[in-house]
Amino acid sequence: MIYDAIVVGSGPGGAVAAATLAERGKSVLLIDRQAFPRDKVCGDGLPGNVSEMLDKDLGIDPKKAGLKHQQIYGISMVAPSGKSLLVQGKPSQHYSMVSPRYHFDQMLHEHALKKGAKFEVMDIDAPLYSPDGSKVIGVVQRKGKELIEHETRVVIAADGVSSSIARSLRGRVSDPVETAVAIRAYAKLKRPLSSDPTVYFKYLLQLTPGYAWIFPTAPNEVNVGLGLFDQEIYKKRGKNLKQLLNEFKDEMESEYPMEIDADTLKSWPIPVWMNRESRVVKGAYLVGDAGRFVDALTGGGIFPAMITGQLAARSAIQILDGGNEQAAASAYDEGWRNGIGRSLNRLLMVQKWIGSKPPVFNAIFGVANAIPPIRSALLTGLAGQHS
Ligand SMILES: Cc1cc2nc3c(=O)[nH]c(=O)nc-3n(C[C@H](O)[C@H](O)[C@H](O)COP(=O)(O)OP(=O)(O)OC[C@H]3O[C@@H](n4cnc5c(N)ncnc54)[C@H](O)[C@@H]3O)c2cc1C
Repeated sequence: MIYDAIVVGSGPGGAVAAATLAERGKSVLLIDRQAFPRDKVCGDGLPGNVSEMLDKDLGIDPKKAGLKHQQIYGISMVAPSGKSLLVQGKPSQHYSMVSPRYHFDQMLHEHALKKGAKFEVMDIDAPLYSPDGSKVIGVVQRKGKELIEHETRVVIAADGVSSSIARSLRGRVSDPVETAVAIRAYAKLKRPLSSDPTVYFKYLLQLTPGYAWIFPTAPNEVNVGLGLFDQEIYKKRGKNLKQLLNEFKDEMESEYPMEIDADTLKSWPIPVWMNRESRVVKGAYLVGDAGRFVDALTGGGIFPAMITGQLAARSAIQILDGGNEQAAASAYDEGWRNGIGRSLNRLLMVQKWIGSKPPVFNAIFGVANAIPPIRSALLTGLAGQHS
């Protein structure tokens, strides 16, 4: 069978793309090299944009869906100077939360299947090109030594930072020079959290430009990690990610005494956003990490993956309904540029000019402490919220 569309990768980007296509009656094959549910190395932090999209666009209520998650009531943040800020969130329908990706991605994956997408576990080796090489007309599956071709009308690449489709079309997504790196682990708290848990960010001097986090996944459990936005700097300092994480854990012993589950300690690259160039190459749509849609300040990429998945699917529907392919591609690029593109750009600038300069960051923190609108703008950006 030739499907209307093939979506490679069933993370948040691919699952939303597949659900959007299937809901409009298109036949869609959703492919992942892993069976679901599966883990994805992540901080698991979901800004309010995510619950808004779940509610308004996907019709998913995390509570009714039985999603394991912890609602978040504010942000607590420590600058390199040691100065701290705490902002309690106002009660809102679209709240921030922390949900382990094992559960969150499974919920979106099931949603796509419920809408009618078909799922197969396959390892995709490359795009399938038309005979003259000018267009992507499907995907090539690797099965042992065998290569199997699957033709389709539209390919959406949502296969993450190691995307084989993006690599074939425009080179490796995870080039170490342009890629951040992060490590995370789950830990049991020796003392349960207060009744209104907040996410905790610490901008340590030795991690600049980068930060450490503690995100509660349950009253007695946290996701703890470090995000480092310049791999060269931390390599020169001679400490590996695991050592840096253990140092942070020891430093937090009095505030957040915890026991790390060593089996969950994993690092993974983050393809941070860099430019506004087109994310449609030879007719294939790059979404989420495969398109480098990750906020350069916080490493947040879940909402950008979901929204680009949705926009790519809408353009695919346009093509499948007989629309012009070039116009559909332009609609996709325009959609993300006018939507998250602006905030991704702003956050990249903040990372370059403030996040990587501790004295400037400290000064802004001081001002933010005194002036509530600046405090709220700073916290909104640092929470990965897109406006
Ligand atoms: C340590 C860390 C902490 C982070 N913390 C946060 C956070 O707190 N909040 C946030 O918003 N973002 C965070 N991010 C970023 C976030 O994890 C990603 O941006 C997000 O997962 C992107 O979603 P995606 O759907 O594009 O790709 P993914 O979630 O990576 O999904 C890609 C899927 O493609 C599949 N795949 C890959 N290759 C192939 C292949 N060849 N064939 C078939 N299938 C394939 C994979 O198995 C996977 O299921 C963090 C990242 C890291 C590394």
